[in-house]
Amino acid sequence: MAVKIHPSVDGGVKQGSGSFAGGTLVCKCKDKPVKVSVTGDVAHNHACGCTQCWKPEGATFSVVAVVPRDNVKVIENGDKLKVVNASATIQRYACTVCGTHMYGRIENKAHPFYGLDFIHPELFAEGGWAAPGFAAFVSSVIESGVNPSEMAGIRSQLKQLGLEPYDCLSPPLMDAIATHVAKSKAAA
Ligand SMILES: [Zn+2]
Ligand SMILES: [Zn+2]
Repeated sequence: MAVKIHPSVDGGVKQGSGSFAGGTLVCKCKDKPVKVSVTGDVAHNHACGCTQCWKPEGATFSVVAVVPRDNVKVIENGDKLKVVNASATIQRYACTVCGTHMYGRIENKAHPFYGLDFIHPELFAEGGWAAPGFAAFVSSVIESGVNPSEMAGIRSQLKQLGLEPYDCLSPPLMDAIATHVAKSKAAA
């Protein structure tokens, strides 16, 4: 039986419009939902198997992408947001009522991804955002309770969806991190 990867990809990955101009992320609350405005399209959208990313009920992976932090603005009911774990590298702002993570922010200026916020594009009220292109931290789903015997099936399911499975980030992102590290060493 197929594993539920994520509701936004289980029926096939929906390609982006290529001209998504941004939209509003809305939490799951029926009453006074938190709304976060995002300008422009998302980048590096991917399925993530880590244990830190927020995922909807029943999903094995999250779907997470980045946007420039200056493009992210809390526009309604921001008083409901609270950082999940203040000591984590990514400060994930979650709705204290429904638990949805609205955006994750890196405050360490030396971090390779400083300046980018992590968001879950499925929360957009609008469609058309850039589709997920790979799967990261795939082996980590075992830490959330997936039986190791299911991994071969999960990896082939991800491949069929066009989401190449990696056990860290994708090669371009790993290269970007290493480039950042090499540059900061050269500067030191
Ligand atoms: Zn909420
Ligand atoms: Zn993750």
